[in-house]
Amino acid sequence: MFLFIRVKGKRKNVKENSLPRLDTVKGKVLFWAQLQGNAQAMPELRQNIITRHWVIIATERARRPHEFSRKEERTPLPQHVPTCPFCPGNEEKTPQETLRLPNEGTWRVRVFPNRFPALAATGEIVRTQSGIKRAISAVGIHEVVVETPDHNQTLSTMGDREVEQVVEAYLQRHRAALSASIIEHVTIFKNHGAAAGTSLEHPHSQLIATPIIPSEVRERLESALQFYDDNGQCIFCFTLEQEALEGVRVVEQNPHFLAFIPYAALSPYHLWIFPKRHCASFGCIDDEEKIALAQILRRLLVKLDRGLNHPDYNFVIRTAPKESETVRYYHWYIAVVPRLSQTAGFELGSGMFINSALPEESARFLGEVKAD
Ligand SMILES: [Zn+2]
Ligand SMILES: [Zn+2]
Repeated sequence: MFLFIRVKGKRKNVKENSLPRLDTVKGKVLFWAQLQGNAQAMPELRQNIITRHWVIIATERARRPHEFSRKEERTPLPQHVPTCPFCPGNEEKTPQETLRLPNEGTWRVRVFPNRFPALAATGEIVRTQSGIKRAISAVGIHEVVVETPDHNQTLSTMGDREVEQVVEAYLQRHRAALSASIIEHVTIFKNHGAAAGTSLEHPHSQLIATPIIPSEVRERLESALQFYDDNGQCIFCFTLEQEALEGVRVVEQNPHFLAFIPYAALSPYHLWIFPKRHCASFGCIDDEEKIALAQILRRLLVKLDRGLNHPDYNFVIRTAPKESETVRYYHWYIAVVPRLSQTAGFELGSGMFINSALPEESARFLGEVKAD
């Protein structure tokens, strides 16, 4: 068995039994990747059996874990910005609240309709079809979740109890949105930083509830159903079992959640958080799971901040649409995607991705970053 190591930035092949101590050489941390059989690193095409996406794990172009670290330092923000519409004192500048936590006294979390919504809040659902032109009126819900009154906090600098209130707000608004008769599907997501598409720096996330089931969600449901028919098991529960068993891509876990870098991660440090209890809908989490989710989410974001120097990221809660909330073949989860690389023509043209980070290596690196 051969291994490769990096010494002063150069890659060297060494025999396993002559491997030097890998933890430090002159105070510098070294990283290594295990190679099968010979010293040549072969790129590998991996398929994510859940999304069916193919990805080239580009070992020849691979960068070491710390090389993904953000280069520029973030400018420190003030705790309060008088002109920020999400800062305390400017509550009247936002539309009428749909939720405030706690509901009495000083607020910690506020939810209200987006001032520039992607979907109209009122109106009838009208479907039209004429030749190639198919349309449906864009009626739905588009809300903003302000996660903290402090302009300069992030989910990673907040306490567990505060993140728990954010999760509570997600849950309440998820349930409320699904209860509207016109709504078929709810997406809750966060854009953090310019590379992740945020327009306002005050910490916030968003909820968009649509009157249709997005085609990507439909495709995932169909492929998950196919797996269930073929194997009599939820593909997500199966993945959870395998990832826990193998362990090499696990970054963090607690009694209710497992966080890992998928075997065929599409981009560097792409993370999935799976609930250990099978349920198709985010709406089914109980109080204990809510606390555990806040903890694991916060810890992962701390690890990203410390390990990769505060990268921009998106996260999204992927959950079943209303009509499939109780099915055995689908399983809700959260995807956390640091924006460390950009997609380009090849991805656009093929729907395939190139990932220059080895998932096992990234998971080990992130796993070792302290979150306490
Ligand atoms: Zn603010
Ligand atoms: Zn499951």
